[in-house]
Amino acid sequence: MYLIFFGPPGVGKGTQAAIVAERMGWAHISTGDMLRAHARDGSELGRKARTFMDKGMLVPDDLVIDMFIARLGEIGERGFVLDGFPRTLVQARALDSALARRGQAIDLAINITAPDDVLVERMMGRAAESGRADDTPEAIRVRLEVQKPPAGLLDHYRSAGKLRDVDGRPAVPQVTEAIMEALGVGDASRPGSR
Ligand code: AMP
Repeated sequence: MYLIFFGPPGVGKGTQAAIVAERMGWAHISTGDMLRAHARDGSELGRKARTFMDKGMLVPDDLVIDMFIARLGEIGERGFVLDGFPRTLVQARALDSALARRGQAIDLAINITAPDDVLVERMMGRAAESGRADDTPEAIRVRLEVQKPPAGLLDHYRSAGKLRDVDGRPAVPQVTEAIMEALGVGDASRPGSR
């Protein structure tokens, strides 16, 4: 399957994307991880991206789209879970075209939700542990404001009947099960159950 995981920062989107991809044997593509790797390596893309990331802003579409399409080319026919891409309607359209050229299409978009106070608390906890440069209180506020998936982006998938909302408040395993149910794979996907 070809999936997108949507959700505000701090909702557990990356954690769930990694679990589902691992369980199903699919590729996990996190544009945030890719951009952080570029920033660490000090590549030209990394240097450009960093100025936006450190302020909690989105990296410009053209930079992210080129990087994503190159990655897509490496994974062949395998299923994938997209984590943090697309974040804008422009990126969604670029994704649709890139997949159409491969004779593929997104099967489902999972939208993980939680109220703002829960998100801020989680992000402050993560900031204390990770030391990520974009987890300062100021950047967290900016990211919550500017990085909630825009309504137009969600509508792009909702109007195609491909969006499923999942409550991100319960503990990690419960959220995973809710996602599996939304995918229609339920318990059959548990390791050793086949
Ligand atoms: P994430 O790990 O998904 O929260 O991403 C970390 C940061 O990378 C974000 O705050 C953005 O600055 C940048 N980023 C990741 N993915 C994208 C994207 N698809 N479009 C624009 N910026 C992105």
